[in-house]
Amino acid sequence: MLFRTITKEHFRKLVNGIINENQTIGPKAVDMDAKGNPVYQFVEVSDFDEMNLEYPTTYSSAKHYFLPFKENLSTFEFEKKGWKQKITYNAEPRVIVGLRAFDINGLLKLDNVLMKEKFPNPYYITKRKNTFIIGIDHEAPDDCFARSLNADVVLHGFDMFMTDIGDKYFLLINSSNAFNVLKNVTTEEITRKDEERYIAKKKKIENSYKTVVDVTGLPSLLDIEFESDVWKKWGDKCLSCGSCAMVCPTCYCYTVNESIDPSLKFGVKERMLYSCNIVDFAEVAGGHNFRPKASTRLKYRYYHQHRGFVESYDEPKCVGCNRCGRACPAGINPVDVIHDLRMEGGR
Ligand code: SF4
Ligand code: SF4
Repeated sequence: MLFRTITKEHFRKLVNGIINENQTIGPKAVDMDAKGNPVYQFVEVSDFDEMNLEYPTTYSSAKHYFLPFKENLSTFEFEKKGWKQKITYNAEPRVIVGLRAFDINGLLKLDNVLMKEKFPNPYYITKRKNTFIIGIDHEAPDDCFARSLNADVVLHGFDMFMTDIGDKYFLLINSSNAFNVLKNVTTEEITRKDEERYIAKKKKIENSYKTVVDVTGLPSLLDIEFESDVWKKWGDKCLSCGSCAMVCPTCYCYTVNESIDPSLKFGVKERMLYSCNIVDFAEVAGGHNFRPKASTRLKYRYYHQHRGFVESYDEPKCVGCNRCGRACPAGINPVDVIHDLRMEGGR
């Protein structure tokens, strides 16, 4: 890792240069909520000034640039004596500007599952390897609990990571691509004053986390509270809409659909993101549903986030962004659910 500083004006020029050459995605206000506050999303931008790097949070994560809602896995052409399959993994180089530390940590969790397991996902890997990531620090939104899950700081999984230290950014340079890109613009050696301002800013960010979720021993607590009424209390409110999983940076459940053109000459196999909260998630051939109740499905979502994933990777799947809590039309959020479990368990 190398450390430099860059003035805000030089960074702006750098990003505008990148935008001219590559697809560039950044946080942009795309709508207003009911209270008149801007709603931010990661969308393609054509100028630096379209982005707001001071955004509090985006409604959805940037996961969809790596795991699209709908993705073509392969196409088929049927011939007289057989059939041909076509599979394409191509991904054009692109840049995402402005990811927060917890969102980069979310990508690292997806990497564990989709890049490092026995059966890596080539569609994900191509997109991940062709995406240049510029992260940026920011103080936490009020309901974000990323610090409770150690997801507020990130040390890898990005090309560059910036911290605003006043008139310039403190830069962590983490890839040869980033090193080469920065040759096109003026950067400076770190001074003693820069270090002091960086440490003070990091402290301020650390102290900005107001929402705390106690996850100590949570996997064991979940084991003990498997039959708890807490699941019924929250599960009975659940509308099984799946919004929580769609906005989540780490949910990767999917379904696969195969369809054949009425001419019987072509076919396509597509993968679609899905949610374990949706009513037919655990339905199998013959119509039997292993999780017919909303409360059971909600419970298993929490078990995957905070128990199953810990067993496989020694860390929870959740990064504490609380996007699921904000998106839920029924007011279900991890802060309250985990709090209730702790109360139930007397811990
Ligand atoms: S807080 Fe919710 S949306 Fe964010 S990572 Fe955890 S489960 Fe996913
Ligand atoms: S967003 Fe809320 S209501 Fe919808 S599936 Fe998730 S927990 Fe249930």
